[in-house]
Amino acid sequence: MRLLISACLLGCRCRYDGASKAQPLAAALAKQHELVPVCPEQLGGLATPRPPAERRGDRVVTEAGADVTAQYRRGAEEALVLYQMLGCDAAVLKERSPSCGHGQIYDGTFTGTLTRRDGVTSELLAQHRVPVYGESQILELLK
Ligand code: SF4
Repeated sequence: MRLLISACLLGCRCRYDGASKAQPLAAALAKQHELVPVCPEQLGGLATPRPPAERRGDRVVTEAGADVTAQYRRGAEEALVLYQMLGCDAAVLKERSPSCGHGQIYDGTFTGTLTRRDGVTSELLAQHRVPVYGESQILELLK
């Protein structure tokens, strides 16, 4: 399969703090599938490093209150364009991220509290019937 994947899971240092979140099973995934790395926050025009942000209602905000909703939406739309243009079959996304998070994300209070919701990119992809996997589900994609 061709899989869109959060670039930080492959070791790219694209996270808000300039670090990566390399996934130990990523190499095995790359042997069995074609991977298309994307970082929606960078695609949306945000710098690295950048202030952490969380979804709060309809907006995405930093702890200082800056509204970065437009950048998050733009990144999600760019990721969807790449998914469709390259004929991907599914997406593997970093869990708990305000962009890539699948199933649960932080609740907008910057207190480390999780809530049941998708990140902006994960939500847009799911709205377009993309099968979305969190990184804890990678084993399901390995034979
Ligand atoms: Fe990783 Fe997604 Fe955050 Fe980029 S936006 S650093 S790919 S979780």
